[in-house]
Amino acid sequence: MITEEKKEDKSLNFIEEIIEADLQSGKYQEIVTRFPPEPNGYLHIGHATSICLNFGLTNKFPGYTNLRFDDTNPVTEDTEYVDSIKADIRWLGFEWKNELYASDYFDTLYEFALRFINAGLAYVDDSTSEEIATLKGTPTEPGKDSPYRNRSVEENLALFEQMKNGEFPDGSRTLRAKIDMAHMNMLMRDPILYRIKHAHHHRTGNKWCIYPMYDFAHGQSDSIENVTHSICTMEFAPHRELYDWLIDKLEIYPSHQYEFARRNLNYTVTSKRKLRQLVEEGHVSGWDDPRMPTISGMRRRGFTAASIRDFCDRIGVARRENMIDVGLLEFCVREDLDKKALRRMAVLDPLKLVITNFPEGVTEMCHSENNPEDIEAGMREIPFSREVYIEKEDFMEVPAKKYFRLAPGKMVRLKGAYIIQCDDFVKDENGEITEVLCSFIENSKSGQDTTGINVKGTLHWVSANHAVPVEVRLYDRLFSVENVSTEEGDFKDYINPESLNIITGYAEPALADTKPGDSFQFLRKGYFATDPDSTTEKPVFNRTVTLRDNWAKSGDK
Ligand code: ATP
Ligand code: MG
Repeated sequence: MITEEKKEDKSLNFIEEIIEADLQSGKYQEIVTRFPPEPNGYLHIGHATSICLNFGLTNKFPGYTNLRFDDTNPVTEDTEYVDSIKADIRWLGFEWKNELYASDYFDTLYEFALRFINAGLAYVDDSTSEEIATLKGTPTEPGKDSPYRNRSVEENLALFEQMKNGEFPDGSRTLRAKIDMAHMNMLMRDPILYRIKHAHHHRTGNKWCIYPMYDFAHGQSDSIENVTHSICTMEFAPHRELYDWLIDKLEIYPSHQYEFARRNLNYTVTSKRKLRQLVEEGHVSGWDDPRMPTISGMRRRGFTAASIRDFCDRIGVARRENMIDVGLLEFCVREDLDKKALRRMAVLDPLKLVITNFPEGVTEMCHSENNPEDIEAGMREIPFSREVYIEKEDFMEVPAKKYFRLAPGKMVRLKGAYIIQCDDFVKDENGEITEVLCSFIENSKSGQDTTGINVKGTLHWVSANHAVPVEVRLYDRLFSVENVSTEEGDFKDYINPESLNIITGYAEPALADTKPGDSFQFLRKGYFATDPDSTTEKPVFNRTVTLRDNWAKSGDK
């Protein structure tokens, strides 16, 4: 359950309207939804929208949500995926009522199949898949009956039993519903209900060598579980007629299917099949690589569950498919981390600065807020000394217009410490600036400043003697094109070769003591999360997102 306070009531989306009407008319006292992942990969941001929708509905209306693994395809499924899916849903902040598996219904589904055969509504077809496809017709032309369509009930029962007993090889026969080969809806042209597949299943082992097709498993599972509103993505809209037909003929609990548009994010792919390829071919370090749009990747990158829920809430539910700008997701995480993340200083591209009028060998403690947005987060100590690091980009030999950072003769404040003035700088033989020489202004310390001097720039810094070297992983979009799926050729050709940049930075000592999952705002640099690769000797941080946002008006914070 989401524990945070609900957002102010917004107008209902179209699924909520349907549910509200169903409750008001007394059709249901409570509703039952389910999230039905196939355990053949890790969950991604698209799944998160479906999770937030299904669980969100039963948070809002009386009822509950089940987690049902749609595990009818033995070849691609694995318990590793089952475990990761459960962990990810819980991390997102939701708890299911029942943990269910379509494979637990294999016996019931087999009984259902026998009922269809006995009613003369299903037959065993010996056609190959090519023959079936040829006889299927086209959207404008009716199909033709299979030569096996009129087998007797007895013959069908015997053959189906033999299929079950493993007497036939893979693909040699199928069980098909007997509906109408001239039906306007191609999916109603005698759809396949069962296929032969001699494969080990992650739960039922070698018990079965026939497996129900999606259409013969999904709706029946919904019905067995008394799901009231079975919500799926739009590509299943043409399946609804078959969904209803099967339930109707079986005279079982009438679940209803509703469709909403798939959610896709730009500059990435949201398909488990493609994500698996990236993992298996080593384009990323794993399903939880921080560049992946998987829940586990985003978590490792530093996205919070609240920010993902907020994102799903903001994009809402639609009937038409569209591409969502990853900028919105970044906006959501910035908003959340701005409230929660502790402020720290780290210099990612260091330039040494010597404060020539500060005594050597002396450490002076400065103090700064842990989070100006949250007074209760308190203050922290930061050591200051004669030599500090600043960012290279914070010094310009010849300052550009409106450059309020450091330049010869100019003053800036070092955050939480003193106002300094630049007196000189040192260049090496290549003309690179290697050191900036400054003097600090007496009585200008933050919080005790009596100088009355106003400076326009405030820089983050780290005392050189106290600096902790840290590994910083800077991420960019995983793909260099916005809509990967519409590009020609192999999607992997569009992987952004610069999506990961690893650097060593210098951090203030408070950052030495960090554990995976911690989130920080590195002042002026962005939000960063401690990576599981982090050790006491070498902390490792992932950049979750930069500070700049192009969604809301604000710029640097
Ligand atoms: P993929 O193509 O990534 O394998 P899928 O739809 O096959 O996705 P499932 O495990 O079958 O994956 O999906 C579980 C639920 O999540 C389904 O109800 C599905 O409709 C929903 N879902 C999957 N991808 C998206 C998406 N991009 N947007 C919204 N819902 C999605
Ligand atoms: Mg699927």
